[in-house]
Amino acid sequence: MTTKHVRQSADFGNKSIGKDGFDFSCHPGVSCFKDCCRKLDLYLYPYDIVRLKNGLSLSSSDFLYKYTRVSEGSHPYFPSLMLLMNDDSEHLCPFLGEEGCLVYKDRPSSCRTYPVERAVERVPGSRSLTTHYFITNHAYCKGHAEDKHYTIRKWESEQQLFDFNLMNDLWAQVDAFFATNPWQGEGTAGPLQQLAFMVCYNIDEFRGYYNDHKLWKHSGLDKSSRRLIERYDAELLKYGFQWLLTMLGGQDSNRLV
Ligand code: SF4
Ligand code: SF4
Repeated sequence: MTTKHVRQSADFGNKSIGKDGFDFSCHPGVSCFKDCCRKLDLYLYPYDIVRLKNGLSLSSSDFLYKYTRVSEGSHPYFPSLMLLMNDDSEHLCPFLGEEGCLVYKDRPSSCRTYPVERAVERVPGSRSLTTHYFITNHAYCKGHAEDKHYTIRKWESEQQLFDFNLMNDLWAQVDAFFATNPWQGEGTAGPLQQLAFMVCYNIDEFRGYYNDHKLWKHSGLDKSSRRLIERYDAELLKYGFQWLLTMLGGQDSNRLV
């Protein structure tokens, strides 16, 4: 899975980032400030939705209804979600304000990581993941000409990407499992896939399901894990990912790493 923040423009190239790092800086003084927050194909991953809906004090259902559209995923067996751009000629991001991003603290992974792209793949025959980094260079983005140097570690630290990367890596494993068409003959959009959609994208509804079905009783969760799940949506999402893998795959080989 790669994090994608794709402006609808063909004038770009990308290259692998080595140990030497890269030069880049984005700030209100660049001539292109806010140019990248329009006409975007901006994918939202499950943890992005948790962060945004909490930052906006919305329920996940309301967030999905107001700000997302369903799109084709990377495979035919589970949909992706994209941020709905404003329905006008500029197609601005709905979170773009006069001074910049209105949801900066909770902005999605793709906005945090841009212009870096992070791709994760599982080492064949093992549980290890390898990570590759690329830098995207759109002609409209003047941040590449700025005199500020980053290593990947420094970039990820400054952009507070560690939680996002962790959650997106778990999501990548779940989505890879969905790509095996695990819907047990129901096909896509059947009850099982709808349940999975709720777990991955509608965390408040899943919290209701978790409580109504007393899922903790059947999961062997200890008290401290249960308390974390009760308190934090991100913990519930992690639990939900593992619950889906176990329920759909029914085997321990699907444990998240
Ligand atoms: S420097 Fe690049 S990322 Fe920053 S505002 Fe300009 S186009 Fe966007
Ligand atoms: S969420 Fe913020 S940073 Fe991302 S496209 Fe929208 S305004 Fe720009």
